[in-house]
Amino acid sequence: MPGILYIVATPIGNLDDMPPRVAATFGAADFVAAEDTRVTLKLLNHLGLKKPMMSYYEHALHHGAAILDRIEAGESCALCSDAGMPCISDPGEDLVGLCAARDIPTVVIPGPSAAISALAVSGLPTSRFCFEGFLSTNRKNRMEHLHQISGDQHTLIFYEAPHKLIYTLQDMLEVLGDRRIALCRELTKLHEEIIRTTFSGALERYREKSPRGEYVLIIEGAPEPE
Ligand code: SAM
Repeated sequence: MPGILYIVATPIGNLDDMPPRVAATFGAADFVAAEDTRVTLKLLNHLGLKKPMMSYYEHALHHGAAILDRIEAGESCALCSDAGMPCISDPGEDLVGLCAARDIPTVVIPGPSAAISALAVSGLPTSRFCFEGFLSTNRKNRMEHLHQISGDQHTLIFYEAPHKLIYTLQDMLEVLGDRRIALCRELTKLHEEIIRTTFSGALERYREKSPRGEYVLIIEGAPEPE
């Protein structure tokens, strides 16, 4: 009998956002597959748990086969990332795909995700949206991506790092036109901030003050064609 791969969401900032099933699942798992074992060790210490860990991140995806072999041999594994929902702009997508291909049972332990939390608080339409993840650091690819989605009428969700934010806002203004944006910064943390403005308003703001912290950008869709 194979074991189970548990896909375990962890808090995106505030440890009080830990669903009770998360602690129970870590406690019951035979081992933990973690994006960064040092980050997850802190979480396990917070929960008072000690577990064998394997690293599973962008440059260690080859560990996936060993993880699956252990699950096929009957062990259960709790997969987690540094914060939020694994597999969403985080390692795990391939592992879950391989489980599906090898008929290995998978169970999700849901919890916080930065994208959905930001969408909910953005004040922009939520009935239709598309998660676009991170834009490429390569400007040509970034511009191509923005041109591809420029006519989409649903709300758009992006993850962005603070040091790239100003370039991203400039490119968005150039390709998408001046739209409404909610910059959701440091959600659930001490310096949480929701800035509801436009691309030009955000650029104006960051001329005086450099962006800091983690951001999700929620952007209104294109206007309906006349
Ligand atoms: N899988 C995670 C999730 O579902 O929440 C996201 C992981 S992705 C590698 C990290 C990005 O998520 C950050 O660069 C930032 O854009 C966003 N993010 C994570 N935590 C955040 C927070 N507390 N506030 C705002 N954005 C956050």
